[in-house]
Amino acid sequence: MKMLFVFCGILILTGCPHDEKADNFSPTVILISMDGFRWDYFNKTNTPNFDELIDGGSKAEALIPSFPSKTFPNHITIVTGRYPENHGIVANKMYDPDFDEYYYIGQGSAPVLDGKWYNAEPIWVTAEKQNQTAMTMFWPISEAEIMGVRPSEYFVYDGSVSRNDRVDQILKWLDYPSSKRPRFLTTYFSHLDDVGHRHGPDSDEVKSAIREMDRTVGRLMDGLKSREIFQKVNIILVSDHGMATTSSDSIIFLDDYIDMDKVIMVDWTPVAAIRPKGSIDSIHSKLHNAHPNLTVYKKGEAPARLHYSSNRRIQPITAIADEHWSITTHDYTSQDDHADKYSGATHGYDPVYPSMGGIFVGHGPAFNKGLLGPGITNIHLYEMMCKILSLTPAENDGSIDSTRIFLIN
Ligand code: AMP
Ligand code: ZN
Ligand code: ZN
Repeated sequence: MKMLFVFCGILILTGCPHDEKADNFSPTVILISMDGFRWDYFNKTNTPNFDELIDGGSKAEALIPSFPSKTFPNHITIVTGRYPENHGIVANKMYDPDFDEYYYIGQGSAPVLDGKWYNAEPIWVTAEKQNQTAMTMFWPISEAEIMGVRPSEYFVYDGSVSRNDRVDQILKWLDYPSSKRPRFLTTYFSHLDDVGHRHGPDSDEVKSAIREMDRTVGRLMDGLKSREIFQKVNIILVSDHGMATTSSDSIIFLDDYIDMDKVIMVDWTPVAAIRPKGSIDSIHSKLHNAHPNLTVYKKGEAPARLHYSSNRRIQPITAIADEHWSITTHDYTSQDDHADKYSGATHGYDPVYPSMGGIFVGHGPAFNKGLLGPGITNIHLYEMMCKILSLTPAENDGSIDSTRIFLIN
């Protein structure tokens, strides 16, 4: 008996790695994104770990993306609560006329690291500014200094870091002594998006990737359980958008309607961002009503529900393909390695299509158990996470009222 006391005493003095048994485990959020996880994927295959999270937590029927339903615009909306036109990342590929520079994503992207592109406050900045520690094991733009602030620990995106290593890093951070331990953590997985693009949402490959994602979250859950903190931390599982099949029979060839030498294409499909070199009206009149599956807007004319008007990085003409359709040119598709590019699946379409819906699951002390709620738009998650962490939110487009049903308080 005496030995036991001495042993515990030493552990406390040296900073027990698992001091979660202390009752003062502060509210903590682990935000996990599984890129391209469509809202209905949970029902496609056997997912014991997702089922455990959903049964013991809250789930929305879908997490409705903001327009365009692309990766960077939506990941940044989730962590800022601002529509893309307000946070500044209106596409994965952009041109800024004031900077006279292009923005692009992907491993090694220099603009991603440059905070000048970002006009809204991510929650890790909100947290650090209010003296809460944030650590990010990948999340789009978490590697940039924004408003002079970075997460206390973070990693520049490197897709080759294994899924297990990402999970283990989260657990390692939670093992920090309470004075250093982060309250807000993120991680990100692109696997399901990659497989979805290549094989389509209804493929066996996607089913296997869903199971792989289930195992990944299972590893995290096991690690939390062995530390006896599974019921103490809040896990928020989200995705940025869904996925819709494309077909080589459903292609809109812009060169059927306009002279491609008269425009600069900033982005292509399914949302084309077009900068005419000369008259905007001339290009617009040729594209407008050109194809029954293409909707074309001059800047400022997109419907209000898309929130896609007021940013200098929105180009003079935006052409949006209908679900399943792709935008390209004959010239491009005639090149050998591009021939099968349009027979997989993609996203970016109008969020009104159910296929563009992502996921939202919340599990932990902040969330109601066994609650299946309606679909919510992703602008609301920033306020929800601020509430869980008792942070004062920065200006944003969301409302706590939209997520209140999921929360215990
Ligand atoms: P999307 O096709 O729009 O879903 O984009 C997914 C891609 O975004 C991934 O395959 C990555 O290459 C890229 N990506 C994700 N996170 C980052 C990041 N933090 N920095 C740069 N590129 C990223
Ligand atoms: Zn994505
Ligand atoms: Zn994608």
